[in-house]
Amino acid sequence: MGDIGLPTATAQSVVSSSTAIQPPAKNKLFLGTFIHSKTLAKLEFLHNAAVAVNKLGTIVAVSPDTDFAKAQNSLLPQLKWASDDTEITAAKPGQFFFPGFIDTHLHASQYPNVGLFGNSTLLDWLNTYTFPLEASLSDIPKAQKVYSRVIRKTLSHGTTTAAYYATIDVPATNLLADLCLSLGQRALIGRVCMDQLGPTYYLDESPAESITKTKECIQHVLAKDPKMELITPIITPRFAPACSAPLMKELGQLARETDLPVQTHISENKNEIALVASLFPDAGKSYAEVYDTFGLLTDKTILAHAVHLTEKEADLVKKRKSKVSHCPCSNSAITSGAARVRWLLDKGIEVGLGTDMSGGYSPSVLEAARHAVLVSRHICMDEGSSEERDKLSVEEVLHLATRGGAKVVGMEDKIGGWEVGKEWDAQLVGLHEVDSEDDGDEEGNVDVFGWESWEEKVAKWVYNGDDRNTKKVWVRGRLVHERR
Ligand SMILES: [Zn+2]
Repeated sequence: MGDIGLPTATAQSVVSSSTAIQPPAKNKLFLGTFIHSKTLAKLEFLHNAAVAVNKLGTIVAVSPDTDFAKAQNSLLPQLKWASDDTEITAAKPGQFFFPGFIDTHLHASQYPNVGLFGNSTLLDWLNTYTFPLEASLSDIPKAQKVYSRVIRKTLSHGTTTAAYYATIDVPATNLLADLCLSLGQRALIGRVCMDQLGPTYYLDESPAESITKTKECIQHVLAKDPKMELITPIITPRFAPACSAPLMKELGQLARETDLPVQTHISENKNEIALVASLFPDAGKSYAEVYDTFGLLTDKTILAHAVHLTEKEADLVKKRKSKVSHCPCSNSAITSGAARVRWLLDKGIEVGLGTDMSGGYSPSVLEAARHAVLVSRHICMDEGSSEERDKLSVEEVLHLATRGGAKVVGMEDKIGGWEVGKEWDAQLVGLHEVDSEDDGDEEGNVDVFGWESWEEKVAKWVYNGDDRNTKKVWVRGRLVHERR
């Protein structure tokens, strides 16, 4: 990264992160069934397999047909790992390991408002519910309470990576970064930039102030995690209506100079699109062109929603290699519309899933996955749809939740599946087996009778699963959540 005149880190850390990026104490060996996405339409099932994870949290071996005895007698000696320096986790029968979910779009600051949207749509929802709550998080103890909870809650649902929007407040945004480090969640941390549209009590005073504060947050994250091993700063213009042309121009310049990722919203709601057209009459004809004019459509840009993009806009997004975060819960909840995911995928645009809390009401990427299925069916029911082809399958939405999300956040080399060299960001999933009523496990909402295929078990999990099925969660090899 070149010299961009970042100020030196001054923000006080509220949370100790001294143990944050420490490698796990022991080598780890996982035994059982491993499921991950192989291609958009296909899951791969590895049964009776072993995955070895070194002390840095990196997968160093994926070994099929390896039971406990074979692991002890063959795999550990091959790796030159002593058994007393290796922690073994075996999935119980019926349990499986699945890559951690990647939430490509959510607002940490809005978590207390999940479920609160009434009958609002985007612009009135912002004023009624969102801006007052976000502004209140400049109260650091309140921010600490909210941010700790949202990280713990999303981890408990298997979200190992989150692309967060915080607020405009620098200390609170830095606190979110510190908490992700200490609680062990991989995250992109965005200080929200907005110098217009918001209420006077919740706005950056000028483009210059917005840039200075953004640089302070970038500097803080880089001071805490210089190699961006767990947390990454992300440049975050809230959305075009909330950012003046000079601010967006400077943010585009900052993205170019730092090569950092960018996140924003696009084409969520028809009134919002009309507002963009009225606010930026000279910048371009469309919402996407407004961002492009200011250099904000990069190959590291995450565009949330993309519900009403035109053909030409989608072509521009593809050309710039920008990514899309599909947020079906939010799009239904605040009546935004149905994003045409198949159409985006057919164009070659990378798509991941986002919960978009609190436009979306659920912290669960699994919930987003099942809503992605349902929204795709609503598209099929619309006249003029290509019908069957528009439907998304269970396999496809799980791909979006893992591999797709990894591409959207630019980490496809690190996370999303079980390949040697990737990091162990994983969840252990357990479904209730009807025949084992008294084994002490929490039942949850999914009943398995014993005659289901593995594909059927996964489908049952997608449609009826929740955090009760997420037994353990690891990020970079570190156990970050365990259900007791
Ligand atoms: Zn959002």
